[in-house]
Amino acid sequence: MRERDNQQKFLVETCDVRGHLVQLDDTWLEAVARTDYPDSVRQILGESFVAATLLASTIKFEGKLTLQVRGEGPIHLLVVQVTNEGTVRGLARWHEDPGSTDLESAFGEDARMIITIEARAYAEPYQGIVPLEGSCIADALQTYFKTSEQLPTRLYLAVKDSTAAGILIQKLPAEERTYHDADGWQRANVLCGTLTDEEMCTDDSQTLLHRLFHEERVRVFDPVGVRFHCSCSRERTDGMLTGLGQAEVDSIVEEQGKVEITCEFCDSVYNYDAVDVAALFKGAATTPSTQH
Ligand SMILES: [Zn+2]
Repeated sequence: MRERDNQQKFLVETCDVRGHLVQLDDTWLEAVARTDYPDSVRQILGESFVAATLLASTIKFEGKLTLQVRGEGPIHLLVVQVTNEGTVRGLARWHEDPGSTDLESAFGEDARMIITIEARAYAEPYQGIVPLEGSCIADALQTYFKTSEQLPTRLYLAVKDSTAAGILIQKLPAEERTYHDADGWQRANVLCGTLTDEEMCTDDSQTLLHRLFHEERVRVFDPVGVRFHCSCSRERTDGMLTGLGQAEVDSIVEEQGKVEITCEFCDSVYNYDAVDVAALFKGAATTPSTQH
């Protein structure tokens, strides 16, 4: 029985290639438990969960990374958010079943992929926007890497019933290359291309890496856990309501008797009755920025 919900870093020294392997089990099941996604949407969302986790694992940051796809096709929004603490959440919004996992069929012609990193060390969030190119999420991410970074990068993604998994390999920066084998990058790609979706989702990372690279010199790092976690909270909802302003919130309470906010990521429900709202704005009234 393999470890569940893990990410694993490795180095194929003889190819001058570094890599990350991700297998999401309960994380993935929890993410889709509340929504009856059509198969094609589920497939694209699963690939995006893995792709975002892989992307985050290649970057040193303290904060959160968000992968978004926006378009005007059957799926109009897809969001996956990963933190440096190994938590992931995400969702997709669709108005009809695209019936295909092809990106253009699913998101329309002019869709964009937006990568945002909000990190404590950055004064401003980093944002990279690329046209959604290629037929699958792996292709689209490769385009992103090509435009944002000089290092050749490839992703291999798979989604099965209860697991979403993938491998990312990246050519080492020039100063870190030691073997200088001209065929190394190509060889690593050919090897990763031999894995089936079934193997990627079922076998443990040690077995997979051994099967792929047993003729190479490989270093495997300690695996790190991944889990589904939503960052919503009563405090955040408070902040959202105070941002709307007392008049707006009062009018909702008047109309509906209360304010009910449901988190789109985890289905948590936050309720505010008239007394809660009064208390919320009593606290906020002392803050000059909320005065009118
Ligand atoms: Zn939530």
